Amino acid sequence: MSLDVQALRQEFPILSREVHGKPLVYLDNAATTQKPQAVIDALVNYYSQSNSNVHRGAHFLSDEATRLYEDSRTVMANFINANAREEVIWTSGTTEGINIVSKGMAQRLKAGDEVVVTELEHHANLVTWQQACKISGATLHVAPIDDNGTLDREAFTQLLSKNTVFVAMPHISNALGTVNPIVDLIRQVRTHSPNALVLIDGAQGIAHGNVDVQAIDCDFYVFSGHKVFGPTGVGVLWGKQAVLEDWPVWLTGGEMIASVSYQDATWGALPNRLEAGTPNIAGVIGLAAAIRWFQQLDMSAVQAHEKALLQRAVELGGGIEGLRLVGNAKDKIGVYSFVLEGSHPADVGFLLDRQGIAIRTGDHCAQPLMERLGVPGTARASFSIYNTLEEVEQLFVGLKKAQMMLA
Ligand code: PLP
Repeated sequence: MSLDVQALRQEFPILSREVHGKPLVYLDNAATTQKPQAVIDALVNYYSQSNSNVHRGAHFLSDEATRLYEDSRTVMANFINANAREEVIWTSGTTEGINIVSKGMAQRLKAGDEVVVTELEHHANLVTWQQACKISGATLHVAPIDDNGTLDREAFTQLLSKNTVFVAMPHISNALGTVNPIVDLIRQVRTHSPNALVLIDGAQGIAHGNVDVQAIDCDFYVFSGHKVFGPTGVGVLWGKQAVLEDWPVWLTGGEMIASVSYQDATWGALPNRLEAGTPNIAGVIGLAAAIRWFQQLDMSAVQAHEKALLQRAVELGGGIEGLRLVGNAKDKIGVYSFVLEGSHPADVGFLLDRQGIAIRTGDHCAQPLMERLGVPGTARASFSIYNTLEEVEQLFVGLKKAQMMLA
């Protein structure tokens, strides 16, 4: 089954707008995806019909909001194949999810412990671990990549030892699109470092479908709702129940307690113990609407379409003199990062924007990775299910124009 991309596009109101007098060509999906009408409706319906606080009311609306909120947890648990719905912790996004884990881990790490990350990290999955190691005296190792942006598996394995207590890596690189073979890599971790916990930064992985946390066998998988057609300000920290059950609490306050006296407090059960305070109720309900919507699609068709978009970009880019693709891993999806000889990526981005084409330029929150690859930054086009081959072609027509103007 293939995707009916034109029909899909009709569900995204923003895709029919113009910018600078030109039809919008939105190729900045790794930064955030657009929202289908089903998500917009869920947010409007919640605020216009069901708005109330959850878990605490003794009235109709509060019960209704609680049901919608908790049903959303079940939707999410099914989507990522969690073993239990209590394993889904709502957060504000990937960054918060990683911080919950790294701040908790910082309390457990000690001198002599080792943490392994990769050269592909977004700052959110690097700075957090640098801080955890600094606070605790643990050692941070960074597994290298080759010049194509592929993780060096041998070097990765060599970094693993019985002292390794934590491994964090991205499912898919936001800057290059490299897909890490996370199932195999985690198998290596289990063999060489049986006591290590593993966190997968799924910010980019989640949008391409087929995330099965049990099959991946990580301990934590974190992502943001806005990268998978949901609202901003909401995300998921998934963790194995046994690991989350005694994870150090992150925020303390209402909702997360079992009992409180003036002197002390005890913590409640999962998931509440890691969700203090009034949550982003509308965001959670909007995210569940996004997942319901996304789940209706045939995931193999989604991935085939995204591969076709990238392949077309690689073909067309190959015909532009002075264009260098940055990141050329064999297994790659969604992201086309490049530099144009003699031009600053920001100028390229500006000139494309004037033609209605939205891309991102800069270091993509991956400064050390840019340094490793010897570029100050890149221009990055990133694709989603509603992009068309014609839009990819427009990108390269636009690039040729930009190149002429910059010459
Ligand atoms: N990790 C990766 C791989 C990302 O692509 C991003 C966002 O671009 C993040 C982490 C941080 O996500 P957020 O800003 O939604 O917390």
